[in-house]
Amino acid sequence: MDEAGQPLRDAHGRAISDLRVSVTDRCNFRCQYCMPADGLPWLDREEVLSFEEIERLVALLVGLGIEDVRLTGGEPLVRRDFPRLVAMLAAVDGLRDLSLTTNGYLLERDAAALVDAGIGRVNVSIDSLARDRFFQITRRDALPRVLRGLEAIAAHERVRPIKVNAVAMRDFTEREVAAFVGLARASDYQVRFIEFMPLDADHAWTPESVLTGAELRALVEREHELIEVPREPSATARVYRFADGRGEIGFINPVSEPFCADCNRIRLTAEGRLRTCLFSVHETDLREPLRDGASDGELEEIVRDAVWRKELKHRVGEPGFRPPPRSMSAIGG
Ligand code: SAM
Ligand code: SF4
Repeated sequence: MDEAGQPLRDAHGRAISDLRVSVTDRCNFRCQYCMPADGLPWLDREEVLSFEEIERLVALLVGLGIEDVRLTGGEPLVRRDFPRLVAMLAAVDGLRDLSLTTNGYLLERDAAALVDAGIGRVNVSIDSLARDRFFQITRRDALPRVLRGLEAIAAHERVRPIKVNAVAMRDFTEREVAAFVGLARASDYQVRFIEFMPLDADHAWTPESVLTGAELRALVEREHELIEVPREPSATARVYRFADGRGEIGFINPVSEPFCADCNRIRLTAEGRLRTCLFSVHETDLREPLRDGASDGELEEIVRDAVWRKELKHRVGEPGFRPPPRSMSAIGG
């Protein structure tokens, strides 16, 4: 087990430096691959960590070696006063990178406030660049508004890189490839396709529904030569640049090419549970000790113990795999 003062490490020797914080389980979209059409039973307000509680845990974890924090949800921008939380976390001593994943619906409203608060990088999730097909996936007719949000944040040059993430699903995303390639080549956004994972509340996922990164890359390469960009071992995306120098495109392949061996991530849910894998079936409650007055030392011990037991790898595609009890919006993707 780790000594006090040492960075967080698990029993498989992986150093943990990346934290995803879900700030709410609520969302204003109902993406097919994530939430049911009618939504999910939301947490009560008092169940959700306050900004001060999130700040305390983030500061504690940064003291244990977390360098990068990504704010996610649910939809983070539906949390009231969210830029205030960004400002609180941006002020945490020792935090290297503070980023956000959003569906973009409220980004036009909040872009300037987020930049003022100190957000470093933003990922916007967009699964289709055709309005009717965007509606089909998200169950919201919101593409023009999301694109305005993307432009609003991109207007701030110190927020870079801007990434656009599309979940790739068979018999849907094939027809999106040309439009996303066009976007990647016409802008400085890094467009990335993410393989569909069995984390949808409707349990519609099947192995066949995964359109793999390799298949998508082959579709891109029909028209364009790609050159792989070297990457950090813990990077989830395989990034390629177009050989003519215009733009980059990435593929995140957790199903067909798992990157668990180099995983450096943990997650904190909106109600204060620590998850050591997207597919965890066990989680560790931090909210109760926090609210019961635990000292930093006591919280550190709970965190170190949970991280030590981080899962070796996910078992998607293996016989007997069972999806976790929580779906993506309740985990914090
Ligand atoms: N609401 C925000 C958004 O959509 O960007 C943040 C939370 S969302 C859960 C984070 C990311 O997870 C999004 O890029 C979304 O597309 C992705 N996601 C959700 N369900 C997924 C699934 N079943 N497989 C792969 N990615 C998924
Ligand atoms: Fe909401 Fe994001 Fe899930 Fe879509 S993927 S339903 S925007 S949490």
